[in-house]
Amino acid sequence: MQPAVPIDVDEMSGIWRTDGLPMVYLPRHFLVNNHLAVEAALGRDVYRAILRTATAKSAIEWCEAQVQGKGLDPEATFHHYFQRLSQRGWGQFSIDALASRRGSISLRNSIFALEAGQGPGRRVCYMFEGFVTGAFSFLLGLAAPTQVECEETYCACDGRHDHCRFDFAAKP
Ligand SMILES: [Zn+2]
Repeated sequence: MQPAVPIDVDEMSGIWRTDGLPMVYLPRHFLVNNHLAVEAALGRDVYRAILRTATAKSAIEWCEAQVQGKGLDPEATFHHYFQRLSQRGWGQFSIDALASRRGSISLRNSIFALEAGQGPGRRVCYMFEGFVTGAFSFLLGLAAPTQVECEETYCACDGRHDHCRFDFAAKP
């Protein structure tokens, strides 16, 4: 099948765009190798905190652009965000539960899980935690994504599950 996302390539500059947003198309191993190198240099906890802030900011900016560009309401935007991530090859996200202050998301074929080996209790997809906190804080209209907690509860790499799961909630 062909990609489900519209891709426009500027003839003059060579810049790729989807929905007007400049995009980069790159090999999965390139992205994951860079990710693992930074994790090794900084330590997982430090890197995870940095990623959470940065990716949440990007998720919020993306969602705000969709509201302006497509006129979607916040809940439709939240669903569209995970649909687009799925269509762009990060993995297949599905929103299993979404209540007023919490929810859970399943992820199949995560790029990080596919590149990593299996290991007991292993969880490797923490980059997506910030994606979720950003999108959910946008949905709730919170002032900051730090008001949302999210954890990859289990991972397809842990030897016990065939997919990853993220649970999230707004802090009381
Ligand atoms: Zn995972």
